[in-house]
Amino acid sequence: MPKRVLIVEDEVAIREMVGFALRRAEFEMEEAADGSEAQARIFERRPDLLLLDWMLPDTSGIDLVRRLRKEAATAELPIIMLTAKGEEEDRIRGLETGADDYITKPFSPRELIARIRAVLRRASPDDGERLEIGGLCLDSASHRVTAHGEQVDLGPTEYRLLQFLMRHADRVFSRSQLIDRVWGGGVYIEERTVDVHVRRLRKVLGPHRCDGLIQTVRGAGYRFSADSKKREAGSGRR
Ligand code: CA
Repeated sequence: MPKRVLIVEDEVAIREMVGFALRRAEFEMEEAADGSEAQARIFERRPDLLLLDWMLPDTSGIDLVRRLRKEAATAELPIIMLTAKGEEEDRIRGLETGADDYITKPFSPRELIARIRAVLRRASPDDGERLEIGGLCLDSASHRVTAHGEQVDLGPTEYRLLQFLMRHADRVFSRSQLIDRVWGGGVYIEERTVDVHVRRLRKVLGPHRCDGLIQTVRGAGYRFSADSKKREAGSGRR
């Protein structure tokens, strides 16, 4: 089954370029020119991934992300934001609001497809694995995470990050190692992006008293550990 990508962008030339690249890579594409058309299409039939422009005629991309994340049906919809060059603060804000990745205009079709594939890969569950550490349980078959028995809702990137860290509990990974292993090779990701996703993960786990499981190791990176002694020695949460 080809994956369906919905592009939300008011510039026809960009929609055409993206459409060409997507079809060549055997994706199905749907288009929306503004926020309200996007919402109508998503409601009609949920796409596998949303490519969302930052600046839309009737709303900002970021507001749309916020709205989609509030709805159960689209809380985990993979979203890649299209941003203008040099707007790093915007990109960070996009990630903090719930986008899974961003791509800066102008972009090459190759980079676009690589990023789409990487985000889709992170979003798709692996079968049958169950990890249980420190009150936190990640079940790959159902794609569910529970903390002390209560369900925790994570975005696709946070899910993958948590899965990776839990699989390799008690080991420290640098930001660049996490980018390679969680985001996958072939795409350029800033190291700050890792911090943003760790922050988001901790924020979700905080009310369940599980945020301390993801530890910052100063000068080294991050580690998942249920051992609080390690937490006291040499690491502090940010
Ligand atoms: Ca635009």
